Amino acid sequence: MGQRKPIMAANWKMHKTIQDIKVFFESFLQLVEGVDDREIVIAPSFIGLSDACRMTVGSKVQIAAQNMYFQEQGAYTGEISPTMLKSAGVDLVILGHSERRHIFGEDDSLIARKVRSAADHGMAAILCIGETLEEREAGLTEQVLSSQLLLGLALLESGHFASISIAYEPVWAIGTGRTASPEQIQDAHGFVRGTVENMAGEAVAQQIRILYGGSVKPGNVREIMSLEDVDGALVGGASLEPESFARIVKYE
Ligand code: PEP
Repeated sequence: MGQRKPIMAANWKMHKTIQDIKVFFESFLQLVEGVDDREIVIAPSFIGLSDACRMTVGSKVQIAAQNMYFQEQGAYTGEISPTMLKSAGVDLVILGHSERRHIFGEDDSLIARKVRSAADHGMAAILCIGETLEEREAGLTEQVLSSQLLLGLALLESGHFASISIAYEPVWAIGTGRTASPEQIQDAHGFVRGTVENMAGEAVAQQIRILYGGSVKPGNVREIMSLEDVDGALVGGASLEPESFARIVKYE
């Protein structure tokens, strides 16, 4: 992993009321006190963002949005903009999550505009990519990953890459309890880093952080984080309880 500071990120999806978020932080912040050699990120739903930002002031926890639209404002019912997120104190956003792609039909060209918009608004972004089970079984994993990377990052200029991280999340491992093997994870992460190198050069490829997501738990995080090209984790189910996510953050 070298000099890359790990990012341990929670994606709460459509879970937790504002009250639940308060209860979570009351114990979680104590559990991760003193952890400063890795970044801790929590992505609540939109409704919880402002409160989560307030509750984590003065802590090391960074609050992220799970999605956003690329425009600043306008007739886009149900959407939220980068400027709105920034006004709530949020400057990190997860983009292209597989649930956005597969349930809500987001395609690579829309995701690319969102990635560019995040960069234009000084927001960091975690771009999620990953193959389905059918694609893996058909031997298409690398083709899918390279296409999602090339298209998703297509609108960036070289100076933008510093604020981008990638999350490799095989769709078949998300929320299924089925984790990719260490070899599958390292192979995919190595491939992602190589693809970024082809796109943006070796220096960018060496600094970009590549997170793994897909049924990460306290019991498997240590082995996953020991892999050479894994620089963090994006965690759904096992991030909902403070003790569980604190153990994942510490992975020791
Ligand atoms: C995710 O939501 O990005 C995810 C990886 O979920 P889970 O950890 O539940 O598989």
